[in-house]
Parts: sequence; structure tokens; C-alpha cells
Amino acid sequence: MKTQARVVVIGGGAIGTSILYHLAKYGWQDVVLVEKHELTSGSTWLAAGNCSYFHSSYYCTRVNMKSIELYQQLEEETGQTTGWHTTGSIRTADNPGRMDELGYYYSMNRCLGLDVQKVSPQEIAELHPLMHVDGLLGGLYWPDDGDVDPSGICQAMAIAAKRHGAEIYTHTQVTGISQKPNDEWVVHTEKGDITCEAVVNAGGLWAPQVGAMAGLEIPSIAIEHTHILFEAIGVVEDRERMLPLVRDPDRSIYVRQEMDSLILGMYEKVGKQWFPEGVPWDYAQTELPEDVDNVAENVEHGIFRFPVLGETGFKHVTVGPITYTPTGDPLVGPAYPLKNFFLACGYSFGITQAGGIGHYLAGWIMEGEPEIDMWHVDSRRFGSYANWAYNHEKIADTYPRLYSTFFPNEWRDAARPNRTSPIYEYQKEAGAVFGDYYGWECPNYFTADEADRYETPSWRRSNAFKHVADECQHVMNHVGLLDLTRFAKTRFSGPGAEAWLNQMTCQRVPTGDGRIALSPILDQNGAFKTDMTITKIKDGEYFCVTASLGKRHDQHGMMQNLPADGSVLMEDLTYKLGCFVIVGPESRNLLAKVAYGDVSNEAMPFGTSKEIYVGRVKCQVNRMSYVGELGYEIFHPIESQIAVFKTLMDAGADFELKMFGMYAMDSMRLEKGYLAWKSEMNVHHTPLETSLAWTVKWDKDFNGKAALEKVRAEGVKQQLVCMVVEADDADPWGYNPIFNGDERVGMTSSGGYGHRVGKSIAFGYVPPGLTDPGTKLEVEILGEMRPAEVVATPLYDPTNEKMKA
Ligand SMILES: Cc1cc2nc3c(=O)[nH]c(=O)nc-3n(C[C@H](O)[C@H](O)[C@H](O)COP(=O)(O)OP(=O)(O)OC[C@H]3O[C@@H](n4cnc5c(N)ncnc54)[C@H](O)[C@@H]3O)c2cc1C
Repeated sequence: MKTQARVVVIGGGAIGTSILYHLAKYGWQDVVLVEKHELTSGSTWLAAGNCSYFHSSYYCTRVNMKSIELYQQLEEETGQTTGWHTTGSIRTADNPGRMDELGYYYSMNRCLGLDVQKVSPQEIAELHPLMHVDGLLGGLYWPDDGDVDPSGICQAMAIAAKRHGAEIYTHTQVTGISQKPNDEWVVHTEKGDITCEAVVNAGGLWAPQVGAMAGLEIPSIAIEHTHILFEAIGVVEDRERMLPLVRDPDRSIYVRQEMDSLILGMYEKVGKQWFPEGVPWDYAQTELPEDVDNVAENVEHGIFRFPVLGETGFKHVTVGPITYTPTGDPLVGPAYPLKNFFLACGYSFGITQAGGIGHYLAGWIMEGEPEIDMWHVDSRRFGSYANWAYNHEKIADTYPRLYSTFFPNEWRDAARPNRTSPIYEYQKEAGAVFGDYYGWECPNYFTADEADRYETPSWRRSNAFKHVADECQHVMNHVGLLDLTRFAKTRFSGPGAEAWLNQMTCQRVPTGDGRIALSPILDQNGAFKTDMTITKIKDGEYFCVTASLGKRHDQHGMMQNLPADGSVLMEDLTYKLGCFVIVGPESRNLLAKVAYGDVSNEAMPFGTSKEIYVGRVKCQVNRMSYVGELGYEIFHPIESQIAVFKTLMDAGADFELKMFGMYAMDSMRLEKGYLAWKSEMNVHHTPLETSLAWTVKWDKDFNGKAALEKVRAEGVKQQLVCMVVEADDADPWGYNPIFNGDERVGMTSSGGYGHRVGKSIAFGYVPPGLTDPGTKLEVEILGEMRPAEVVATPLYDPTNEKMKA
């Protein structure tokens, strides 16, 4: 066994084997995989092998596409049978909400150029003659989906990895992980130590224990999952073409052909957690006992949809452990706060994603950046609130509802609340309807109407719509208060801070005390990594704010880049400071009433920051606005939040001050043409394609500059536009295809309704020839074409008079 390697991959399931294969194939031969038993000794051994393009996320669908591409050619590359069958797959709907959801997937899949077809119940019956289609409203059909032999693909990838120079050590358990002062990792195994640059935790069922060896708490717990193989079915045996896989999510079942019969799989009514505190190390390649009661309802559903199953006996019931995370999606990428330690675990659909994630994670490790936006699976999308107990509670809700309809405005109650602002009870009293953002309870909107204290989940405008409209009008005419305590806040200080920040951002770091600069942080491709507001407090001290969701992502990126000489100190202020936004034409009058000091336009122009006493509390007040009205961000010590709140609310009575929520904020930022992180700003777009090109300061050096210069020289291939869409009751949401005649020319990045301008709005990227205001395009919403017109931005207050008043 080697004692030194570039990368050690821990775990020889589908995921680990694929990462090893891709690292070696792309040129890093000095890589090893350590497996405590034989390859495929975890979940992989029991998997059904269904592989489809389907995923609710656009970028995960791209991962699935990559897997299928690989599985179709792996046998030829290695000579090892992989058992790939192209069968096609159907996803059904038996209610209007589900039809809308399928409409969304249809449109999103068309953005990817996938072959996806809308099918009627009649067409479903023709595609799958054994299916009883009563009660169905329709479905989607992907002709190119299929299934694979999980063990076959692992063996094939292992063969290929070895051919490329990688080594695999089976029957070698990892017993500990430590890090040397020079950042190298040492993976301790029962057969000796391996020192390496980077570690990948692909430990599947045991990933939490492996993570704990490096000090990580990984929210992943195994759940018992059942699928049933039936005895031979004559009509299946006689068929020439294989039957498509069917997912009937409204009945929480899937059915596919296996040889001469069918397999019925299910998401049971109770997700039984299996060794939630840690799977025994000696478990391998063993089925779990069946629980007939827990699956009886699903079996009935199966028989309803496929009556032939009612006349056929069970041949074999497979029960195996699958890992689940709070949302059911995996944990991939750099592990916060470690350096060169990567996760690829928490997989519940790991066969479907193994091929693709091996490709993308290998690239991420080798290049330092992911090739596609991996946010949906990035382990840093969860904060410290997502601990073991949170996951334990959350998946009790997530698992049985895995197949329930996905709505973009559904905020489930399970495992909440976690993080609350000190004014949470006041918000509740004022009628807040909360969403859950990075564990924070944040009001989405406020209502006095008891019936609307629950927002109806929908792909269309919900019962929140009228309340959001009122909030936008109120902010436009008076003043509103938005609680943004959840912002991620970081202080950088020290003699090297200015130069270092100037290297991190393409913007020029403000030079005057109290100046604020919108500062994109780019990756090495010149694309958006994140977006920060940098305030210069004084020489050598900068206060930086980023989106709450990106806290770990952004701070991780920053801490890994800090100068080794200690000239920059980084301090996380997120949980020390709260933030209230007061915004609207009366906001200055309100602030003047409560502040000691001059807050006039002359004393505090737009884009500046001052230390101000708000009542008795010393606050850092930034004159900024994300909604396009005169406004201020009041950062205050968290322990004084209620004092600041009461001061503002008491004084606010004269100005009709009211609280407003996230939905109104988003509506107003669309009208102002402001970009959102992970929508308009992600790793697929550079500032040059957006309205933020002005933030690029070419006369200085910054990360990503060389790549950005290339983009500038070659000319951008896409440009962000704002469109007004003739929507009905469903607004664009993002991932809607954009058409110019019959040609698909782009995709929306976000959208919604602009209540101040009374229009449905979409942002999207299109080729440069289609960006002129007045250009007529079409946007597909929930599978239906809608006329759209490119408009000049911003739609609201184009000269910024209100904001800079
Ligand atoms: C009944 C059932 C049906 C399923 N059906 C499907 C399906 O149809 N489609 C689909 O996509 N997915 C399916 N899945 C899920 C799929 O099996 C998993 O998502 C996938 O196999 C996870 O692979 P993995 O490599 O992450 O983990 P695992 O397969 O669990 O592999 C982890 C490996 O790491 C090794 N290891 C752990 N700790 C150590 C250590 N300390 N030292 C050395 N080695 C270690 C283990 O021995 C193991 O071999 C199914 C799962 C089950 C149980």
C-alpha cells in the first residue's frame, strides 16, 4: 500500500469509485481508494439501478445527464458488463398541482435540450399496457431513461480507474484522519497511514463517522427502503421491447421491468431510521428484515396502478439502507471549514448521479472550481443548525413526502424554528408568515387575515399575492421595515486587508472612510463566485455583507484565500449583529427622528455608511437600497435588537411604518433590475454579461481577471435582459426556456410579479442580438408559451431619483 498519494478517496461504493475513475482519467494518476470491505459494500449493493434524467433541479439534471452518457459507453470502454437498458420513463400526475409541477419540469428540461414529451393518459396506457390509468390527468415521458446494474458500473469504473493508474485497497478500513501543520492530510487505516493533499469522504452509510474523524458533523442518516421483485409475469416475458419505468408520485411508488417481471419500489409511509446514531462498521452486503405493515399501503397503490401485480406473488423483498439528508439531496464539494477535504455523501439516488458527480467533483478538486453550478448539492448550503438532531427530525417529514408535489412557495413546518431574530415574537404578533432561509425564520409577508396565515402551496399566484402587493405599495408611499438579521457579515482588518480585498474583488475597494462598494467576487473563469457589499470603516478595517444562504460558501472561500503572513484578520460577525432595513420615502424622516446626528442627504449621501446612535444604541448605518426607494440598513448589536426595534416602531407611528417581508423585497428588486446570487449571478455568468459590468476595474489586478479579459476580447455570448411577460396567474420563476420564434435562445434566471409597475417580469440570458428593448420573444411557463418583450431596465424609477433623493 502507498504511504503517499495526491488524493485518498474513502469508500468504494458507486460514488467513490466514480470519483477515483474520473480523477485518474483526467490525469491525476497518483490517487487511491480505500474500502473497508469489498467494493459496493454499502447502499450500492442493494440499489435497484434506476437511472433517469429527472431531478427537480436544473443543475442536478445536468449531473444525471452526464451519468447516463457515461453508463452508455462504459461497457465498451472497459469490457465489463454494466447492464444498461434504455427503457424510457414516465412520471404521472393525478391532480392540477402535480400537472403544474410537471409543466415546470417540462419547461426546465427543454432548457437542457432533453427529449421530454407531454403524454395523455391514453398515451401512457399505450406506452405501458399493464398500467391502469384511471384518475390520471397526464404525465411526462423521457424516451432515453433507463436502468443499470449498480455493481456492474462500479466494477467497470474500478477497472478503468486502475488502467489509468489509480490504486484500490479493499479490506482496508479508515480508522482516523488527521492534518499536519503544512495542511497535508493523513488518512490512518488499519494497514498503515497514507499522507495526501486531499481527502474525499465518499463513505456512504458511514460518511458521518468518517466526517467526525475530521471534526465534521454531517447531517446524513440511513433509512430503510424497500423494493419488491414479483414472480415472472407472462405478458412481460412475451414482450419484445422493455417496459418504461413508471413513477406515480401521487401514490409514492415506482415500477420498472426486471427481466421477466416487475419491481415495485416505494417511499414508505414511515421512514424507518436505521442506526441513526451510526451504522455499525461491520455491516456489509446484507439485506434488512422486511416490514410488511409499513409497505402495505404502497403495495395496494402498486396493485391499483398495475393490476397484474395483484395476481402475482412476491419473488423477493429487498430492504436496504439509503442515506438521507434534511432535503433528500446529497452533500458534495468542499467541506466547511476544512481545506482540501471534500464530501460526496448523503446520496439517496447515488446510482443515478454517480457517473456525473464523479466527473464534476473530480473537476472541482482538480481545478478548484466546479464546472457547473453545484449549489443545489453543495454541503455548505446548510449551516451549523443542520446538525444530527435537526436531520433526525427533518427526514421524518422529508422521506415519506419525497414524492409529494414540489411547490416553490412551500415552507414545511418540520424541524423549525431554528434561528430567530430577537424580534421574532413581535413579527408573529404582527401577522408574519415565515419562510425558512438557512435555518432563519424570516417573514415572507404579513397579514391580518387569519385565513392567509398559511400560504397555499402553488406554482401560481398564491393567497400571499394581495398582501405582497399591499406591502410594495406601502413601501413606495410611506416606509417599511425589513428584518435582514440573517445577512452573513464579516469584518476584515489588518495592514494587508485593503490590498487583499482588492485582489479578491473586481471592484475597487472603497478608499474613503464610510464609503460602500458593491463588489463581485469572481472565480478563475471570471464568473460570479459571490457578491459582497464592502464598507470601509476606517483604514485597515472593512465590513462585508453577503447573502445569508451563502454564509459558509462565501466565508469558506475567503478564509482559504487569506494571506499566510497573518496581515489580514477575518472575523465572523453574523451572529453578533442584527440588521433592519428601513425603506421608503419617509425613511429619512424616521431615521432623523430617532438618530443622534445629521442624516440629511448632504451628511449621508447614497452609498455611504456612518456610525449613528439609533435611540441609545450605537449602530452602523449604510445608506443602501435593494428595493429602489430611499433606504437605510441599520446594523446593530444583536442584544440591543429589541431596543432598536421599539425605538423605530414607536417613532414610526407618525410615518405609518410597517414591517414587510421577503416576497415584497424580491418583487421590488426585480423592478429595479437588481441581480440575485445563484439566479443571475452564478458560475455560468460573468459581470460583463450583466448590468454589473461597471464594477470591473480593469486598471488593477483581481482574481479571474485573465479569464475576464479573454471574454472581453472575444465578446460575450449571452447578455442578461429584463422582459415583461404576458403571464396569466403563473409568473416566470427561473429555468423557463426563452424562444425567438421556434428557436430556443436562452433561459430565465429568475422572475416574478412587479407590484409597483403592475407587470410580470423575467430576467434571462439571451444572445447579444436579442437584447434591444422592444425585441419580441416568448417565455415558456409551466409548459405554456407566453409572449414576452425585452424592456429597458430598470422598470421602476430608471433615473434612481427616489433612491438617491
Ligand atoms: C433498496 C435500495 C434501492 C435503491 N435504488 C436506487 C435506484 O434505483 N437508483 C439510484 O440512483 N439509487 C438507488 N438507491 C440508492 C443508492 O444505492 C445510493 O444512493 C448509492 O449506492 C450510494 O453510494 P455511495 O457510494 O455513496 O455509498 P455506499 O454504497 O454506502 O458506499 C460507501 C462505501 O464506503 C465504504 N466505507 C465506509 N466507511 C469506510 C471506512 N471508514 N473505511 C473504508 N471504507 C469505508 C463502505 O464499506 C462502502 O462500500 C437504492 C438504495 C437501496 C438501499
